[in-house]
Amino acid sequence: MEHDVRQAESANPFEWSGGHPALDLVNTLDERPSSTPIENLATYHDLTRFAALAGLLDRRTAARLQRLDSRSGSYILKRARKLREHLHDVLATANSGRPARQPDLDALSAAIQAAHAAQTLVSSPSPGLANRRWSPALTPEIPLHACSLAIECLLVDEDRKRIRKCSASDCDVYYLDTSKGRRRQWCSMKGCGNREKQRRWRSATR
Ligand SMILES: [Zn+2]
Repeated sequence: MEHDVRQAESANPFEWSGGHPALDLVNTLDERPSSTPIENLATYHDLTRFAALAGLLDRRTAARLQRLDSRSGSYILKRARKLREHLHDVLATANSGRPARQPDLDALSAAIQAAHAAQTLVSSPSPGLANRRWSPALTPEIPLHACSLAIECLLVDEDRKRIRKCSASDCDVYYLDTSKGRRRQWCSMKGCGNREKQRRWRSATR
């Protein structure tokens, strides 16, 4: 779903409370429940920067990608946002206790397959016998593929009970709960945690 969005102004606007690059990707559409969410993937440049900062791409590749033709970049950006929204819909459905919708999984699956097809093995001295490399080494799809592989890891490897949505009513940030007692309730204690505590305190003392 395309949103009526505001664009982020900050130089590093990304939300890093997801604890997993695929969740950080979902959180790049900030303030989701509002009618005017903030789009932090406003340009292809943002997408490559996000992928690099999330550890999905090395910075040298990201810098080289940012110099590619902008027309193909904007097409990839659109696909990346669509991919993100399919993942968001899978998470939102799971969060309401329902199984993921097959059209969302099919779309994610197609992107994941394309990402695997864009990798090849090359000899490596260590630690294994081979490393994965993008092939071709520099196409605008690389950040999209890197995000797709991160999504695959999230969906297949992570315990679904650790994937949570912030408990604040006006926040749709998703995160991986790695706290000891698995009782993390907020995307951040500083932001939503404090705000909700104050809200509860005010309604209790009213
Ligand atoms: Zn929150």
